[in-house]
Amino acid sequence: MPRPIEAIIHQPALAHNLQRARDCTPDAQVFAVVKANAYGHGIERVFEAFRAADGFALLDLDEAQRLRDLGWRGPILLLEGCFEARDLELCSRLRLWHAVHCEQQIDWLAMHKTHEPHRVFLKLNSGMNRLGFTPSAFRGAWTRLNALPQVDEISLMTHFSDADGPRGIDRALAVFEEAAADLPGERSLSNSAAVLRHSSRPGVRADWVRAGIMSYGSAPDFPEHDIAHWDLRPTMTLRSKVLAVQALQPGDSVGYGSTFVTERPMRIGIVACGYADGYPRHACHGTPVLVGGRRTATIGRVSMDLLAVDLTDLPQEGAGSEVTLWGQGPQGSVLAIDEVARAAGTIGYELMCAVARRVPVHLDPLV
Ligand SMILES: *Cc1c(COP(=O)(O)O)cnc(C)c1O
Repeated sequence: MPRPIEAIIHQPALAHNLQRARDCTPDAQVFAVVKANAYGHGIERVFEAFRAADGFALLDLDEAQRLRDLGWRGPILLLEGCFEARDLELCSRLRLWHAVHCEQQIDWLAMHKTHEPHRVFLKLNSGMNRLGFTPSAFRGAWTRLNALPQVDEISLMTHFSDADGPRGIDRALAVFEEAAADLPGERSLSNSAAVLRHSSRPGVRADWVRAGIMSYGSAPDFPEHDIAHWDLRPTMTLRSKVLAVQALQPGDSVGYGSTFVTERPMRIGIVACGYADGYPRHACHGTPVLVGGRRTATIGRVSMDLLAVDLTDLPQEGAGSEVTLWGQGPQGSVLAIDEVARAAGTIGYELMCAVARRVPVHLDPLV
C-alpha cells in the first residue's frame, strides 16, 4: 500500500468559487489567474472547472503553451509581459496578450516582426512600487505604444497593494483615475481582495477582473473574514491517516527536541504527513487539524514525514483514522487552509503552492 497521504483537487469547488467572482462583478469579464501552476493545483487539473472564465492570466510562457495545448483558444494574459525580446515570437504564435510595465518592453515590441498586431495591457504603478510605469510616465508610454504598428489594442491595468487591508484602494484608485483619465481602452484593476471587498465601488468594477486566490478557496483578508463569510469552498484537500497511537503519561514528551511535554495523560495519533509533503514545519503546537472530521490540534514539532495530533478527546479515533490537514473532511467538515497558514505564520497562497511532488494528487471531478 502506498503511504496514505494524498491531495485532492475539488473541481466543483473551483467552478463554484469562479462563479463567486462573477457574482461579485457581474459587468466585468473574469480572468482566472493560474500562475504558479494554478496556485499549486496544476493547470491541467483546474482547466475544466475554469473553462467558464473569459480568459486566463499567468506569468510563464510554458504555462501559456500548456493552456493552448489543452485546447483553450480564448484570451491568455501574461501578467508580467515578456522577459526578453524573443518571447514576443511566442506571444505572436500563441496569440497572447501581454502586460507592458517598462520602456524596454516597448523597445522590444518596436523591433518585433509580426503580421498580427498584439493586444497589450499597459501597467501603471499605483503605489505597490514593484512593476509598472509611474503616473508621470504612463501617458508617454501609452503614446509610444499607440504609434507602433505591432500594437492594435492598448488596455490599462494596475495592481492594488492594499485591497485586503485597512488602507484599502482609495489612493491607488485615485492615482489610476488621474493617470488614465481620458485614455481609451479597457481597464483591469481588481485582484481577489478587490473583487470581494470593493466591487460595489463605482470605478473599480472595470472591464476585466483578475481572480486568483478566491478561486482556490482562500480568503484574501483572513482572519478579518473567512471563506464561509465569502461563500468560498476549499479547492484543495491535503489528507492522510493515523499510522500509530501512543498513550502518554505526565512528563512524557513528543517528537524531536522534546519541545512538548505533557502534564496529563494523553492519547496521541502519529500521522503520515510532514514538512517533506509541504506541511509547514513552522506550524506551531496547537495548529488545527481534523481527525475523522472532528477538530483537534497538532502536538509538538512537525518532522519530515510525521506529525502528532491530540486524540485525547476523540476516543473513537485511532490507527487508520482519516486526518484532514486542510480542505474538505468527512461528513461535510471543513478546515480552511487559511487557519493552518495562520498558525504557521504564513498565508494560504504559500501552503497551496508548496505541496510536495511526492504527494499523489487525485481529482474530485465535475459531475
Ligand atoms: C497574482 C496576481 C493577481 C491575482 O491575485 P489574487 O490575490 O490571487 O487574486 C492579480 N493580478 C496580478 C498582476 C497578479 O500578479
